[in-house]
Amino acid sequence: MDTLEEINLKGFVDEYIDPTLDLFVEIEKLKKEKNAVILAHYYQEGDIQDIADYIGDSLGLSQQAAKTDADIIVFAGVHFMAETAKILSPNKKVLLPDLKAGCSLADSCPPHLFRKFKESYPDHLVITYVNCTAELKALSDIVCTSSNAIQIVESLPKDQKIIFGPDKNLGAYVAKKTGRDLVLWNGACMVHEIFSREKITKLKERHPNAKLLAHPECEDVILQMADYIGSTTGILKYATNNPATEFIVATEAGILHQMQKDNPTKKFFPAPPNNTCACNDCPHMKRNTLEKLYLCLKNEMPEVTVPEHIIVRAVKPIERMLEISAQLGL
Ligand code: SF4
Repeated sequence: MDTLEEINLKGFVDEYIDPTLDLFVEIEKLKKEKNAVILAHYYQEGDIQDIADYIGDSLGLSQQAAKTDADIIVFAGVHFMAETAKILSPNKKVLLPDLKAGCSLADSCPPHLFRKFKESYPDHLVITYVNCTAELKALSDIVCTSSNAIQIVESLPKDQKIIFGPDKNLGAYVAKKTGRDLVLWNGACMVHEIFSREKITKLKERHPNAKLLAHPECEDVILQMADYIGSTTGILKYATNNPATEFIVATEAGILHQMQKDNPTKKFFPAPPNNTCACNDCPHMKRNTLEKLYLCLKNEMPEVTVPEHIIVRAVKPIERMLEISAQLGL
């Protein structure tokens, strides 16, 4: 097997796998043996979603895992999500199938630059979207998700000055909805920024009854066209509960797997992006594969750790969000 150094360099355990092995069976065996729980984000490939114990949004998954008595959490998602799981379950071992599964949005907000930015607005409260690094959470007053961001901002006094980061599109959407003047960090997600208004319009012409569902990380021009704006969980519920039979989905295409499973008679079309490869997959999310997941559980590597002093500070804004959510009955 690779040394720890080699694993860190490549991002994953690179080991021969007997091609006759049924990985679904092997992963189930290892899960029992090691008392592990597998979490899969909606943007993971279908096979990974099918083997997972829980599928969902990043924070919801970490909360589910914290409630279990598992010794090991395998987070099939990206690095900041595994960090969030570690913050909420500091005594569990957290594994990520590929350490290099990063996030363009989290990377767009380096903590040392954000600290300086924050210092320029000393009387502002800092709200950060959960899609950011543990270090950024540790610099925040309140964390929010895409489903509660509006309510979190509205729960604060009207004259409270606020910095919102790292996603400028979600921040602009929240500012528009709440009428607040938020100071925005200029970060964005590469997947949600590439949807093409022209191509979506053409797709809508071909499917006039299709509803457009969009994630608030999308740009305003796309949100303005949308019939529904919400988190991945919100989008999934809307598609299930709405009587329409066709939907155009403006978020990462991995969610279509679950949408189609839950609604086999409905039709889902990924919103076309502004690029030539016609693909809106998140390259970071898609670094994880069933093979890497198997090897990571077998070898209990790569592991995601967060320094104790960061955990202590990063858990506070998450707890603050949960308190506000509980007060508001969200
Ligand atoms: S879809 Fe965007 S926000 Fe989500 S992990 Fe990929 S780059 Fe990050």
